[in-house]
Amino acid sequence: MAKKPLMPHEGHDKHLCYLANVGFQQSHTDDYKELVKDGQYFCKACGRVAANPQNLCKPAKL
Ligand SMILES: [Zn+2]
Ligand SMILES: [Zn+2]
Repeated sequence: MAKKPLMPHEGHDKHLCYLANVGFQQSHTDDYKELVKDGQYFCKACGRVAANPQNLCKPAKL
């Protein structure tokens, strides 16, 4: 069984910060592209960009 990283807060398993760390952009490239396409928010923690603030740890409007 794969080791599951600790979740620092609720919903982190949907955050790009986490998804990129576990290689989601490689295994689900098209899904990942949907999340970042036309990004309106960026993460103050890691700098990633997403269309939806629910996909970031510390979203800030671009
Ligand atoms: Zn982040
Ligand atoms: Zn998070």
